[in-house]
Parts: sequence; structure tokens; C-alpha cells
Amino acid sequence: MTPQTDSRTNLLALTEREMAAFVSPLGWPSYRASQILRWLYQERARTFAEMSNLSQKEREYLTTSCTIARTSDVQILSSQDGTKKFVLTLADGNQVECVLIPDGNRLTLCLSTQVGCTLDCGFCLTGTLGLQRNLRVHEIIDQILLAQDQLGTGERVTNLVFMGMGEPLANLDAVADAVTRLTNKTWGLGFSGRRITISTAGLASRIKDVAPLKVNLAISLNATTDALRHQLMPAANQLHSLDALLAACRAYPVAERERLTFEYVLLADVNDRAEDATRLIKLLRGLRCKVNLIAFNPFPGNPYRRPSDAAIDTFQNTLRRGHVDVYLRRSRGRDVLGACGQLGRTEANSQIALTQIQTRC
Ligand code: SF4
Repeated sequence: MTPQTDSRTNLLALTEREMAAFVSPLGWPSYRASQILRWLYQERARTFAEMSNLSQKEREYLTTSCTIARTSDVQILSSQDGTKKFVLTLADGNQVECVLIPDGNRLTLCLSTQVGCTLDCGFCLTGTLGLQRNLRVHEIIDQILLAQDQLGTGERVTNLVFMGMGEPLANLDAVADAVTRLTNKTWGLGFSGRRITISTAGLASRIKDVAPLKVNLAISLNATTDALRHQLMPAANQLHSLDALLAACRAYPVAERERLTFEYVLLADVNDRAEDATRLIKLLRGLRCKVNLIAFNPFPGNPYRRPSDAAIDTFQNTLRRGHVDVYLRRSRGRDVLGACGQLGRTEANSQIALTQIQTRC
């Protein structure tokens, strides 16, 4: 790992208030703070020389005493289905991945919040890494800036899902700070909170803390008994039982015209049986919610299997008959290990069949 030795101020790490506090003692006009923020987020500036509405002197000062800590080491793996996986190498040498998924008019970016993950869900490649560290807010933001850099004029990331590497609620301060910058319309990226989803594996005690962010909440459920959830998601289930998790969901203040999303990864002969569907209907009764089914995406060394299409249909139909609003989420980017549960094994990236273009930017 490369040690981080740069003592200059990373402007991309500063909150709006911190930026104002940075500018003020320099004797610059106070509006410089929002000008600089606009350059960082809306113009995605990588150098201070680009900041043309700052004076020459101000730009020189920033160049000598500050940085914009964005990574320039990015590997891009392009799937045959149009999905792109970005592998970012961070300043300390750690790597993190995000995935850009085109779907009709939508361009969804799946973001990571940790290097590795606190939890160890048995169907997830990221979970096998253990937790290396939390991402800092600028490292979360850099994923969006980078994805947007790759798009043509007029194209824009439309939706953001915190469903990549890591458990977002285990790094909630940085995630909340990122959401502030993503939704700020004056100098930030101007996303509506309705287009942002935070997904948790079930940190029930922190679920309530998502409400003030005014974004969508998704819960990765995957099992209808504690015994099976303990087998599939041991760390999450040890922290909070299914009962506690569902109680937190029931107490969650879902905004009017919104609903919770429950994610359910279907594993053949493990959680896709008729009795699982029946229990799921009962568990969700009374909750304003929908269910997203995701057929398991296999990866080397994992014992679970993807159910047959017929089994998936049967499960979905049973839920429908039980009046559950249920959707089958098509997995994208499987050929570049970019689909749900496949992120994080960087050595696997280099072994991916070279059906994809690999570039560095
Ligand atoms: S599914 Fe999510 S919470 Fe579970 S190990 Fe993978 S990244 Fe972590």
C-alpha cells in the first residue's frame, strides 16, 4: 500500500461549512466557497487552473496548498449488455468498485461505501474480503464524478443506489454527507432524493437514521426464518433478528407515496421454496413495500446455485397471489462480475473472459 503523505487540504473532503471556514480567513469574498464547490461537483474540475472565475492569485494559492483528491487510476470493464464496471484504485492502494447500469431511459450507478464489507453474507463475493476500511466521503463522491466523466454530452446518471461493496449503514456519517452533496441544487449534483436508494443488510438499530436523508430505503432480506437468515447472513442476523429488523421497518416513517423495498436473492433449493414464499407474504403483511427478486449470480468457489427460470416464476407468482408487489430484477454486467453480490475480487477482474474492453482513464 502506498502511504498517504500529502499534507495539503483536500477540498473534495470539505463540507459546505468547512469550505466557508477555509475561504474566510484568506480574505476572499464569501461567494468563493460556493464557486469552488460548483467547480468541484458540477464541473468535475480536476485542477485549480480550470477555475476560471477565480483570480490568478487565488488559483495559484489553491494549487500550492490544496488538492482535489480524485483518483486517476481507474480500470473500466465493459459488459456485453452495456453495463460498465469501474475499478478505482484509492490513494492508499485499496481498490473499490462501482457499476453503471443503463436500462431504457435510466442510467443507474451502484455505489460502494466500504472497501470490503463489515458483514459476511454467504452469497456475496464482497463479503469474503472482510472489512478493509470505510470509504471517506470524497471517495464515495468520486465514483459518481468518474462515472459522469465517462458519459457523453447530454447523458447523465439518473439514479444512485448504495448497493455496491459494503454496508452503507456501517458508514452512515460518510454516506449522509455524500447524500447532502448529491442532493444540493446550488452547488452540488442536484439529484432528487427519490432517485437515491440506500440498501441495508439489516442494521435495524440504524434504519431510523436514514429517514432524515429523505431517500429510498431498501432492505436485503433473503430469508424468512432466523435459522436460514443466520446461515445466509450470519453477521447481520446476529446483530438483529428478523423480528427486530421487521419491527424497525414497521416503525420507519415511509413518506407518503413512497414504500420500502425488500431485496430477496433467490438461491436454488435454499430460499426459493413454496413455504419460503408463503412465509414472506406473512412477514410483509401490513408493510407498505415492494419486493425485488434477484436470481443469485454465481461466482467461483461459492456453493449456492441460481434457481431455474421456472422456479423463479413460481416464487414470483406465489407472492403475487399473496398480494405482494413483486418485481424480478434483471441482473446486469454478470460477464464482468459487475452484478449484485459479485463486486470486490480484483484478481478475478483480470481473469474475466476478455469479451469486454478494458481501458484506463
Ligand atoms: S451483501 Fe452487502 S452487506 Fe452482505 S456482504 Fe455483500 S456487500 Fe456486505
